[in-house]
Amino acid sequence: MPITEKMICITCPMGCSLEVTREGQTLLSVDGNTCKRGEDYARRELTDPRRMAATTVRVKDGIHPLVPVYTASAFPKPRLFELLEALRQVELEAPVAMDQIVLANALDTGIDILASREMPRSSQ
Ligand code: SF4
Repeated sequence: MPITEKMICITCPMGCSLEVTREGQTLLSVDGNTCKRGEDYARRELTDPRRMAATTVRVKDGIHPLVPVYTASAFPKPRLFELLEALRQVELEAPVAMDQIVLANALDTGIDILASREMPRSSQ
């Protein structure tokens, strides 16, 4: 039985309000999208929702105790809490370079987690 639900397209800053009709995971129609990407977004949300994620990990002997990190590409949304838990176990050793791989192939997704800034050693 078809279901219609509301969704906000987060692909660009326009943030169009979509009205998405689906049957299970099958997309039947999309209204309210200003461009084709809105339909692509709705389809992805039904089958493989993903988000970029950013958090921090611990650094030993750095000028700060934490360094910000981010996903190299959008990460499977249902596994974000699992990812955050894995990153809580990570402790880097300073110095850390910008875009250094912090966690390679996180949770076997093929997606790396990268440092978003450098972190010098505290004695440098
Ligand atoms: S439907 Fe198109 S214009 Fe609207 S938010 Fe999505 S990408 Fe932007």
